[in-house]
Amino acid sequence: MQSKCIVCHDKPAVFRCIQCHKPVCDDCSFKTEHGAFCSRECAVMYRDFKRSQRDSAPRRPGRLLARLVALILVAGLVVAALYKMGIIKDIPGLTTRTEAPQARPAE
Ligand SMILES: [Zn+2]
Ligand SMILES: [Zn+2]
Repeated sequence: MQSKCIVCHDKPAVFRCIQCHKPVCDDCSFKTEHGAFCSRECAVMYRDFKRSQRDSAPRRPGRLLARLVALILVAGLVVAALYKMGIIKDIPGLTTRTEAPQARPAE
């Protein structure tokens, strides 16, 4: 089924507006680098939409994770260094020494 151009209501539509999906003919279509639109307004809307989409897109999602991993590694190294220097005596989970006071066997 061939739909007619929504602009001139005369010629058969050969394009569909990327923005509003309305059919337009070759003469009435507004062509941009993104494709064909039914009007200049739709082309502007689509361009703005694309721009906002690009701006709101997360920038390099792997970067945050890499930073987090690096932070954890650095924190672990610092804790290990402090522990070796004797600044931190007991780290729960790191030390295997049992410092529980031993009950003296009654004689
Ligand atoms: Zn037309
Ligand atoms: Zn349109």
